[in-house]
Amino acid sequence: MSIHTFEIDPVRHPVTILKRPTGADYPPLPGNLHRAPTALVRAREICGGDLVLACFEVSAPTTTYADHYTDVFPAAPSTFTGGDHCNHCASAATRLSPEQGVVITRDFPWDVCDVWDRDALALIIPAAWAAAHLATVSQSLAAHGLGTLPSPGGIHLALPDCTTMHLTPIRSGHEQAAPAGWVARHGQTTVYDSTHHDLDPHDDARWAAQATALYAAEVQRGTDFNDIWEACLGKLLKRACTASGLNAFTDGSAGAEFVTLPLPDGSQISIDDSVHETTGVLISEYRRLFVNHFPLEKDSETCEEILLPTTGTFWGDMAALLQTARARHHASLPSTP
Ligand SMILES: [Zn+2]
Repeated sequence: MSIHTFEIDPVRHPVTILKRPTGADYPPLPGNLHRAPTALVRAREICGGDLVLACFEVSAPTTTYADHYTDVFPAAPSTFTGGDHCNHCASAATRLSPEQGVVITRDFPWDVCDVWDRDALALIIPAAWAAAHLATVSQSLAAHGLGTLPSPGGIHLALPDCTTMHLTPIRSGHEQAAPAGWVARHGQTTVYDSTHHDLDPHDDARWAAQATALYAAEVQRGTDFNDIWEACLGKLLKRACTASGLNAFTDGSAGAEFVTLPLPDGSQISIDDSVHETTGVLISEYRRLFVNHFPLEKDSETCEEILLPTTGTFWGDMAALLQTARARHHASLPSTP
């Protein structure tokens, strides 16, 4: 999380939000949440599922600083009915009227009511952002021609072989909170898993959808992933590039050394596996894509390595590669006057 300064009322209450503290008391936010967009809102604007990161001492006379929670929690707001609900509500009622108060949560994480002044400030990751990401993934899958069945736990995908694939947002321990990443599974196969990877949340959602689509297309094709002649890295890469509108070449054999992607300006991208230095391996042996851009004629003196993030699976890495390759392809198109 970067450092932001919001000035809601710059004369009376400048608000400074410092970075979340580190150390034993402040566990890092799970998954990719430290890169999620945050919003500064009034307590009355907090919605169910918003992840509450910090509160503020509103009575401070000068600059107001964020007080980060050691354990962030999803809001479950409800109306403050006054002091007749429980001891904590009764305590809150000594300083807040039912009109001034709002209950942010009644149980989790403290098993008691947490009553705030309606005008108090909160730093949150909006639940709407999480919902938008779920919608983005569903729409991306639909754009790849895959019909999805939204389910309470994520997205179910019926594959042509009558099996089901599951694409599940990783919850940060709480139902409805912003996803900390994505996991896609088909039986025992993990197609995508961003659990232990530091990925931009927007890219993460798109790559999860793309990885799922790439895998589903191979299942539809009837690919045997244990057959080196039809499912080696090079051939899977070539088919994925072709499906993305990119021309790709291999030498045609299962032992293809690398895959070549010619770009419109005459330069080219070459791809192999960084450990095996070939694309002639089964994806079960895949380690990491090694991608180079050769400016014009292939010349190892002048090539530039394109560093891609590792997503945790071959399918995710391929999604990241395709995004980069399409961008390079587009950038090398001759500009129209
Ligand atoms: Zn209560």
